Amino acid sequence: MGISNAELLEKLRAEIGDCRRCKLATTRTTIVFGEGNPNARVMFIGEGPGKDEDLQGRPFVGRAGMLLTAIIEKGMRMRREDVYIANVVKCRPTVDLAFVRDRPPDEEETSACGGFLKRQIAIIRPEVIVTLGNPSTKFLLKVADGITKLRGKWFLYEGIPVMPTYHPSFVLRNGGDASPLKKDVWEDIKKVIALLSGDGHEIEGIKRLMRANENTEPKENDAEEYIPTLF
Ligand code: SF4
Repeated sequence: MGISNAELLEKLRAEIGDCRRCKLATTRTTIVFGEGNPNARVMFIGEGPGKDEDLQGRPFVGRAGMLLTAIIEKGMRMRREDVYIANVVKCRPTVDLAFVRDRPPDEEETSACGGFLKRQIAIIRPEVIVTLGNPSTKFLLKVADGITKLRGKWFLYEGIPVMPTYHPSFVLRNGGDASPLKKDVWEDIKKVIALLSGDGHEIEGIKRLMRANENTEPKENDAEEYIPTLF
């Protein structure tokens, strides 16, 4: 019997060890590797841990995490432990490394750490990836456009359909619990649910995207895009 995904993830975590590959090692409390089902059908990917995550060593456990959990459990009718949740960088990035205000990871941190995320994806091989916000979307898809333009459209990463949507923190910062952006996120998640449910239109769209990808020389900064017409 081959080695299981759970074992492969454990080996990867052991390889990261007490990582010092970038400057975030100097301020973090805990490395936040990621968590969830090693055989998940869906992976959610954010940019990096925040204060609560750094303290607890788990991804998406603060206010934004509560919103993500609600999306998964109330919206998708899945259990949080059925999906896999990770970030591009595994240590908390803060402004001036002062460990007070969070910021997105910079290029140096992303290139030092991003390979670990790519290996997590390669181990799990989910059916769908949902990128949350700009940094994770840009990291995986190598696209120049921002999340407002990209959200709600399908892309491919290594043959896996990717749906970019807003980061829950961005939603909370823009209107809190009553944020109008929640509706946009829900529209994006409905497409993910449709694909996972075997919706013919979504599947055909992804197949077209894959065919287009096969016939196109891969270009840096140019992810293939398919805009579903169903919704
Ligand atoms: S962010 Fe990643 S590369 Fe940088 S120290 Fe943490 S685990 Fe290592």
